[in-house]
Amino acid sequence: MTSSHARPLGELIRETAASDPLFAEGVRRAQTQFIRSLVPQVIARMTELRKARKWSALHLSRELAAVGVDLPRTIIANLENGRRQAITVDELAGLGAVFGVEPWSLTSPDMRCPHCWDSPPPGFSCNVCGNVGSVAATAAKPE
Ligand SMILES: [Zn+2]
Repeated sequence: MTSSHARPLGELIRETAASDPLFAEGVRRAQTQFIRSLVPQVIARMTELRKARKWSALHLSRELAAVGVDLPRTIIANLENGRRQAITVDELAGLGAVFGVEPWSLTSPDMRCPHCWDSPPPGFSCNVCGNVGSVAATAAKPE
């Protein structure tokens, strides 16, 4: 089934990089660039999740410390006000842990309704997105 034409791209890149230092340097730069491009999104999600939980930066810092990630309150503030624009993989993992989400999910916007998370209580409709909470028998259906 597997032919040399169907090799995973990652494998080909690793092999080429192993024998070509210039290519390897290009890959390293591309990866760094890619990770950097995700940082603003991660910070935006971090801020969103922190505020949704009504956590102060200090509270978030303490939650992170509890999972072994040292991210002082001042650094969190600097991330949120744009003075620092770097996040380590450890910090990303820590944020995922304290917010109870997959770390990689922080790298993309949450498309769910920020008011009801796409699931209003049964029988209620969301004032923001208009979704209606699922209920076995809906008495009054808003038109
Ligand atoms: Zn909604």
